[in-house]
Amino acid sequence: MEKVIYPMAEGKCRICGSSAQVMRITEFNLKVCLPCYPRFFERRVRRALEKYDMIGEGDRVLVALSGGKDSAALLFALKRLSASMGFDLLATHFHLNMGDFSDRNLALVEEQASKAGVDLRVVRIGELGLRVAKVKGWKPCAVCGAIKRALMNREARASGANVLATAHTLEDMLLFAFKNLLSRRHYLPPPVLDPIGDLPKKVKPIMFTSERHTLQYCLLRDIPHFPEKCPVWSPKGHSLKEVFETLEKTVPSGKLQLLLSLMEIMPPREEYMWRPTGACPSCGEPTSQPLCPICQLSEWFASQREKERA
Ligand SMILES: [Zn+2]
Ligand SMILES: [Zn+2]
Repeated sequence: MEKVIYPMAEGKCRICGSSAQVMRITEFNLKVCLPCYPRFFERRVRRALEKYDMIGEGDRVLVALSGGKDSAALLFALKRLSASMGFDLLATHFHLNMGDFSDRNLALVEEQASKAGVDLRVVRIGELGLRVAKVKGWKPCAVCGAIKRALMNREARASGANVLATAHTLEDMLLFAFKNLLSRRHYLPPPVLDPIGDLPKKVKPIMFTSERHTLQYCLLRDIPHFPEKCPVWSPKGHSLKEVFETLEKTVPSGKLQLLLSLMEIMPPREEYMWRPTGACPSCGEPTSQPLCPICQLSEWFASQREKERA
């Protein structure tokens, strides 16, 4: 794959001032030379961390690492920033029990974490009696999302992390905003969710960063990233993203301006208005139901296996 996805031109780099072949960063009408681009990317991440008070000195930050370009770019940028900003960084990955796909995924994530020099905690959902499948009226992607959300909280607590960083990108945020708008729910997930009880603070350091930039950063920093799509992934849920690409082509920086405008007019609200009300009697995790989501799901899968046997 070509290392540069932005158009190249002769010009002067805005960061180091040298005259060279530069990338034209169309969103910002900015020229940056190749060696300066990673610093440009990291500065943008740092600005979001500081502006929204996402991460500060002494924090212990857990990154949920899927292996894809977005969480990989987030991990490597945070690793670079951790020394100068004085926070600790660790990563977690969920092996999703989808056969060879999940094994290849895990192998790549291990390579990323070791290259970044970050400790990795791996959770195998198969060992919890779980898998990604249709459950009652829930689609596999919804089940997977619920499993991951519950495990992220659990892993943050188990690893002593007080901040959980997720790799939601500019496109993810716009997709979420538009799905909400189209169902007449007029609110947005905020950049920071404050900690509730035992649950960690949640932050989205690359929510103002487009996926073009995370890919460009991975390419120039030689960060390996997992190219495969999840076997149950379907383009249907993501086709709205094409609308944003058309917007960006017509109006450079249109995606970012749209998100910033929406943030001004749509009140922030948590994605999931989940408030734990007690401890799960089976595993002790915080829950708002008689059993926590993980225990509910593993009971359900266990009963399915019983039925299959009978
Ligand atoms: Zn430069
Ligand atoms: Zn439980």
